[in-house]
Amino acid sequence: MITYVKKEEIYPAFGICNSIGDIKVREDLPQNVKWFVLEHEIYHSTDTSKFWLWREIKANWCGFKQHPIGFIVTVFMSLSPYRLKLYWQRFKNNK
Ligand SMILES: [Zn+2]
Repeated sequence: MITYVKKEEIYPAFGICNSIGDIKVREDLPQNVKWFVLEHEIYHSTDTSKFWLWREIKANWCGFKQHPIGFIVTVFMSLSPYRLKLYWQRFKNNK
């Protein structure tokens, strides 16, 4: 199931996909970013890879092919301190 949710619900993430494939995307994002994030999370919902970095690379590539502008806007939006902190924590926790 795909649901658009308020920023506070999944912040600092832009979108999430849980273990049974339910997807949440933030409703406050620009439309291009929502399309990219949705494509990214849909990829996660079917991916069985175990290594998080490889999963993210594949999901980003899949989203980029469908929504290149959304990908670029997402990258720029991801350069804010709270997003960089999220990536750093993921990197440290290895997931
Ligand atoms: Zn992801």
